[in-house]
Amino acid sequence: MTFDQSYIHRKEVDWSLLHEGLTIPVHLQVSFRTLLNGYERGVGRRITLLVEGQPFDAMLINQAFDREKYARHSDVVQIRFTAKSGLPQRLRQIFPSSYAYLKQERELLKGKKTFVRLPEGSREYFVLYTTQRPDVFTVEVITKSELYEANTLLAGLSEEEFERFGDFARRDDSASILTRPQLAKVRKLDRSIGEDLKILYDYRCQICGDNFGEPYEQRIVEVHHVIQFVRSMNNDYDNLMVICPNHHTVIHKTNPIFDRQALKLAYPNGYHENLKLDKHLRMCSI
Ligand SMILES: [Zn+2]
Ligand SMILES: [Zn+2]
Repeated sequence: MTFDQSYIHRKEVDWSLLHEGLTIPVHLQVSFRTLLNGYERGVGRRITLLVEGQPFDAMLINQAFDREKYARHSDVVQIRFTAKSGLPQRLRQIFPSSYAYLKQERELLKGKKTFVRLPEGSREYFVLYTTQRPDVFTVEVITKSELYEANTLLAGLSEEEFERFGDFARRDDSASILTRPQLAKVRKLDRSIGEDLKILYDYRCQICGDNFGEPYEQRIVEVHHVIQFVRSMNNDYDNLMVICPNHHTVIHKTNPIFDRQALKLAYPNGYHENLKLDKHLRMCSI
């Protein structure tokens, strides 16, 4: 993989992914819709997904909902394929234990429409990257055993150390455990996302709204993981918060509870603080 590819989305493996496709997340819908300019609703555009270097066909489709049944549902862009096509077959081979688990749980739940999720610690991921061609995407798979290996390496690292070294702008590769090849995949995920989020917030802290570094022309804002990365391995938008170094220090010292709906932090001494800025966290929780 070359570095001109940028990260798009990490999708947790579920039954749909192994059979019919995935929905592009809300915050990426607009940019994906531009790829469908000139294509009729519900028709779709043929795309290629490269999985371990092998090309597979899929469709990028603006899923039109039946207006009578789902009057309030807006269109969503999805990547679709049929269960018997090459891509889902390959994915079922790559993720055999996830496939077996999901199949078994669905059989137990027969008839009931319940979404089955892989248990914590056994989750596997499908990660989408762009390429230089708009109709070709690269897929990287992150399996349970790779996550286990990464976890073992990260076990000796505190969350603060991880975030400090994991911060692309400030990373000191020579000193970091994060240069280990076993961590290449999980670490790569934050390369652009954290930086994108800082730009989204104009280098301001989501808690106090300040850009302390501004008069000094220094960008000192940091990226914090809502659920500790060393536990969640989640470097995606929905788990990241842009905060100033002061708030970051306080948060790691006090470990407040974050209420995502109210956008409020509850500290153990009873102090509460509302986020002044939010452009992505509440949206991601829908
Ligand atoms: Zn702050
Ligand atoms: Zn943090």
